[in-house]
Amino acid sequence: MVPLQCRFLNKPGVFRILAGTSQVNRGCCREAGGSVSETVRVRFAPSPTGFLHLGGLRTALYNCLFARQQKGSFILRLEDTDQSRLVPGAAEAIEDMLDWAGVSPDESPRRGGPVGPYQQSHRLELYQKAADALLESGHAYLCFCTPQRLELLKREALRRRQTPRYDNRCRHLTTQQVQEKLDMGSPHVTRFRLEECVEPFQDLVCGWTKHDVAVVEGDPVIIKGDGFPTYHLANVVDDHTMGISHVLRGAEWLVSTSKHHLLYKAFGWKPPQYGHLPLLLNKDGSKLSKRQGDIFLEHFARSGYLPEALLDIITHSGSGFPENQMGRTLKELVQQFDVSRIMSHSALLDLEKLPEFNRIHLSRRISDACLRMELVSLLRAEVEKAYTGNITDREVLETDYIERVLLLRKGHITRLTDLLSTSYSYLWVRPSVPRKQLEAISVEVDKITGLVLGLLQAGSPDRTTDELNTELKVLQGQVKQTKYSETMKLLRMALSGQQTGPSVAEMLISLGPYESCKRIQRALSS
Ligand code: GLU
Repeated sequence: MVPLQCRFLNKPGVFRILAGTSQVNRGCCREAGGSVSETVRVRFAPSPTGFLHLGGLRTALYNCLFARQQKGSFILRLEDTDQSRLVPGAAEAIEDMLDWAGVSPDESPRRGGPVGPYQQSHRLELYQKAADALLESGHAYLCFCTPQRLELLKREALRRRQTPRYDNRCRHLTTQQVQEKLDMGSPHVTRFRLEECVEPFQDLVCGWTKHDVAVVEGDPVIIKGDGFPTYHLANVVDDHTMGISHVLRGAEWLVSTSKHHLLYKAFGWKPPQYGHLPLLLNKDGSKLSKRQGDIFLEHFARSGYLPEALLDIITHSGSGFPENQMGRTLKELVQQFDVSRIMSHSALLDLEKLPEFNRIHLSRRISDACLRMELVSLLRAEVEKAYTGNITDREVLETDYIERVLLLRKGHITRLTDLLSTSYSYLWVRPSVPRKQLEAISVEVDKITGLVLGLLQAGSPDRTTDELNTELKVLQGQVKQTKYSETMKLLRMALSGQQTGPSVAEMLISLGPYESCKRIQRALSS
């Protein structure tokens, strides 16, 4: 069970920046039985320096699962303070893709909410006030070191084979020296005075942890020369002012957490509970490469993969669930998610299995009458696009026909777009098969086709593929000089113009008796 802290957001949108004072009014909600309940508020805080990829989706998903399960709120906050690295359109696309994936936030830049704005670039005043409070309490100081001096320090450290770090020189400036530099208009940044004694904290995933930041790092910049905050300050101020109760984020931030705790301590705020999610790696343990372009959600959406298949595969490989099972829906993921089961070792993603995951979820959609209708519309539009001008028989665009095709191919296709491939073109376009081609397969063309036409005209229109299969086998008894496999080859050719494909029985059923007869007769007379 997650240790819940006593944090509660009861008057949203009220910010007060004073060191030692909680910014958002929080409180404990004591329930009738005396137990303490807490409003769970989690957030996904990507930087719009790129589009949403599978690793980001997984972080967002775990937060969303936790919020839904704990009846809390899931917030999207865009950390866009590094203006030089912003990618145009990325902010919009991230929220679009979360919606597409079904991992929609409750509060976000687009949706708004009680503690907005939800984009850091719109909250600059808040960070400046927070930094001023730290300056006033002596936890921060102004630094006037020039880029040249910092570069020199760096080079010197590298020459001595040491990790470059700021030497905290400006910590020791007197008030008078600072004032003189300010009067001269000297450019400056604000740095946070790192405390030496770091307390360990209990991470939900990694257990007890601490990083002696002051031993390995110089005092970090919290407000840059351009007035923008750095990640650490903005992140802490926002998590606090947005009433975030739990931070579930990538393991790469684990080393920064002690620094964040020091900031919380300096402000006099209670930190949220942290849980650092292990990295998502390729099956062979290598890093998921964003450069390949094929781990971005847009790529999967364009390639016909279903969002639920992606959610399933990214949670399948990782931990957080009692068992590793395929085919879970978002609802099931919410029910089964258990934050205490997240393991600290990396999660391996086997993308080769994605088609199989998609097949399972596509079958599920086809089985659902409502979702099936959406697939019908989607497929109709795709067919019209793919076969513009080639569709002679408009009946193939009718709902009944497309629905029949979907139900017959359920479990066989991995993506809806499979039905647009050449092997399925017979479904949408009448083939033109010369009689000679049928005669090359068997000398009994008239006999076989005559029997099949009779069967189609006489039998029940509701027969199943299995029933039709049996009838075809019985019919074969009357064919003397042609093997069963050749009979099927001939029929498949007449119906589809192809040598391979689904069974003849399935073809006959998907095309329906009228269209099947028409195709056979057409081939006979050509
Ligand atoms: N902006 C950071 C990122 O892109 C957020 C890290 C955090 O969740 O604290 O990963």
